[in-house]
Amino acid sequence: MHFDNSYAQLPPRFYARQAPTPVAAPKLIKLNQALASDLGLEAQLLSPSGVDYLSGNDLLSGSEPLAMAYAGHQFGQFVPQLGDGRAVLLGEVIDRFGVRRDIQLKGAGRTPFSRNGDGRAALGPVLREYIVSEAMAALGIPTTRALAVVTTGEAVQREMALPGAILTRVAASHIRIGTFQYFAARGDQEGVRLLADYVIARHYPAAAGAANPYQALLQGVIGRQAALIARWLLAGFIHGVMNTDNMAVSGETIDYGPCAFLDAYDPGKSFSAIDRQGRYAYGMQPRMAQWNLARFAETLLPLLAVREAEAVAIAQAALGGFSEAFEAAYAAGLNAKLGLSQTQDGDSALAQDLLARMAANGADFTLTFRGLADEVTDSGTVRDLFADPPVFDEWATRWRQRLAEDGGEAASTAGAMRAVNPVYIPRNHRIAEVIAAAERDDFRPFEVLNTVLSRPFEAQPDFARYADAPQPGEIVEQTFCGT
Ligand code: AMP
Ligand code: MG
Repeated sequence: MHFDNSYAQLPPRFYARQAPTPVAAPKLIKLNQALASDLGLEAQLLSPSGVDYLSGNDLLSGSEPLAMAYAGHQFGQFVPQLGDGRAVLLGEVIDRFGVRRDIQLKGAGRTPFSRNGDGRAALGPVLREYIVSEAMAALGIPTTRALAVVTTGEAVQREMALPGAILTRVAASHIRIGTFQYFAARGDQEGVRLLADYVIARHYPAAAGAANPYQALLQGVIGRQAALIARWLLAGFIHGVMNTDNMAVSGETIDYGPCAFLDAYDPGKSFSAIDRQGRYAYGMQPRMAQWNLARFAETLLPLLAVREAEAVAIAQAALGGFSEAFEAAYAAGLNAKLGLSQTQDGDSALAQDLLARMAANGADFTLTFRGLADEVTDSGTVRDLFADPPVFDEWATRWRQRLAEDGGEAASTAGAMRAVNPVYIPRNHRIAEVIAAAERDDFRPFEVLNTVLSRPFEAQPDFARYADAPQPGEIVEQTFCGT
């Protein structure tokens, strides 16, 4: 049929063959029809058997289910064996654009990598991943996608009993930095090489023709991660668990656990209940990505050069490129957010000055940047987002001078700004509202939120309240991974 499984062709030590465990009473809550159609799976998933395929009670023909092996640094601590403890890779499909994509059931039951876990997922985190990953895609940020949500009719025991659910996730691949670490930590050089060759063929085909393909692979992964983290910062996104097992070598955002978007701008902000030290706080993300990439580079050392000193020099040069690539992408993104079409010395300082003033004044990140477009064409209301409004006025005077030098026509500048500064982001309090309703079996708020977030850059007058920052009583301070 549609499946064309390549990971299952790798040697058996790369995974454990594992079928999903059937569930009691599967119910289809959501099918992402546009994505299903891109994958050529629409007819099967819309058929009466669709819910069985999406719950693991039946297998799509052509799937070869397996749990992938991987390791990872979790909050800085190396764990030599993690692996898919509650996810099953069904296989790969070539989509209608010719792109090979993984189809995975998350919450599909125990696997040889489950350790003490139950292999299951609770409804709340599944809905959060659905909402946030689809919102990221609509924002144009590289990400895994959500194909479907089913409830299982079974309870999962966390701090309390919660309704169980399964997310069907679609990814460019599920290969993580931790996948490389798994083989490297075992001294399995052949495994690292096979994996590297596989990743080059699948994600970095141009590297195959480079003088040193593994150096090109390393540079490629670093470049995509630098661009990705810049996009996160520019959208106010906090991943929450940037462990090396949660960083995909494809350059997609993966593993939406205790993730969150900033309301008020605060570079030190972290929401994750398990991130007590703020290791993965908003402003730490570039540094943490670079740290993770250094772990990736270490796994490749034996492939980079015969002589170790030479390999280390190649790795260090590549890692040194991260900051440069990140800073360039971040600065360009900030300029676009400010409506500046050309770059000048001092632009970064201007943007950073705004951010510092926002942080000191509790200004909402998304509303401030979106509001700047109105300031270009008429007199906006951004100043009201600042605890001390003259702090904004002072900055805005310099920004307007800079805009004048840039020379763009006001209406087109405002239009360009509205194309990069969203109105709608998946705000934490809205997600909390959706989950609370879903736990009462009301999925209408989930539907509405997804619909609004599918067009994040367009003002939707009927849904204006979804743009609002939380009222003081609505603020969500902590998010949970729900594992
Ligand atoms: P995560 O925090 O979701 O990135 O997961 C880290 C590791 O824990 C991965 O190896 C997961 O497969 C595993 N894991 C998380 N939750 C469960 C669960 N409920 N049952 C089994 N394994 C789990
Ligand atoms: Mg993970």
